Amino acid sequence: MFKPGKVYRRRSIHEKYGGQNQSGISTPRSFPFIMIFTGDSGEEYGYKDGWQDNGVFYYTGEGQEGDMNFNKGNKAIRDHVENGKDIYLFEYVKTGHVEFIDNMTCIGYHNRRSTDRLGHMRETIVFELVRTEELTEGVEEEINGEINNDSLSELRKKAVDSAEEEVTVTERVTKSVKRSKAIKLYALKRAKGICEACDTEAPFYTKEGQPFLEVHHLRRLSDGGPDHPESVGAICPNCHRRCHHGRDFKEYNAMLVEVVRNKEMNL
Ligand SMILES: [Zn+2]
Ligand SMILES: [Zn+2]
Repeated sequence: MFKPGKVYRRRSIHEKYGGQNQSGISTPRSFPFIMIFTGDSGEEYGYKDGWQDNGVFYYTGEGQEGDMNFNKGNKAIRDHVENGKDIYLFEYVKTGHVEFIDNMTCIGYHNRRSTDRLGHMRETIVFELVRTEELTEGVEEEINGEINNDSLSELRKKAVDSAEEEVTVTERVTKSVKRSKAIKLYALKRAKGICEACDTEAPFYTKEGQPFLEVHHLRRLSDGGPDHPESVGAICPNCHRRCHHGRDFKEYNAMLVEVVRNKEMNL
C-alpha cells in the first residue's frame, strides 16, 4: 500500500485505484479508502489545512462557493468509520506529485467562516483528523490482558458513542481513543472465548486468564483504528492470518462478515 513519506504521481494513483483525479477528496469505488489531498490551490479560496498543537490535522471540506454541506466527499469523510473506509492523507509537494502522510481517522468537525473564491462570506466545514495509529497505540498490547466488568451492552454503548458538539477537539481525541478500545473489548466479549471465524476455542489463555483472540477489521485492508462493532471480528491467530494472507481471504472475510452480522442481529 502507500508508504508514509513516499512521493507518488497523482495520476498513477488514480490509474491504479480510480477515484476523482481532480478533487481534493477522492472516493475510489472499489477500494475501502478515501484519498484526500491537501496543499494544492486551496489557500487561495480561504482554505488553510494543517497540523494543530494537539496533533489534530485540520482539513477543509470541499465546495468552492457558498456554504459547505455534507454531500459527496464531505459526507464520505464524516461517515468513513461507519462505512468501513480508511482515510489516506496526501500532501502536494510539487505539481502533480503528492506525498503520502498517513492513514487518518476523522474524530469530528467544526465550522469556520471564511470567504469563498467570489469574495463572499460563507461557512466552511473543517474536519478534525488524527493519525489512526495514534488512536490505537498501546491499545493492542493491553487489550487482551484487560479484565473488563462492563456488560456487553455497556461496552457497545461506549463503542458507538459519537463525538458531542460541546467538547473540545482535544477531548474528542481522548474520547476516540477510548471508543477504539471499547470496540475491541466489545468484540472480544461478544466472542466469549470462541473464534468468530472457525467457531473453536481460543488457542490459549493470557497470563491474566483471558482467552486469547485477535480483533480483525472486516472491511479494511489493515487492522487498527476505530471501527463499528459490526465490522470487527474477534478471531484466533490462524484465522486472522487467513483473513489477510489466505488464498481464499475474500471468501473467508465474507463468511466472517455474515457471522458477525447474524450475531449482532440476535444480541
Ligand atoms: Zn479461528
Ligand atoms: Zn486483521
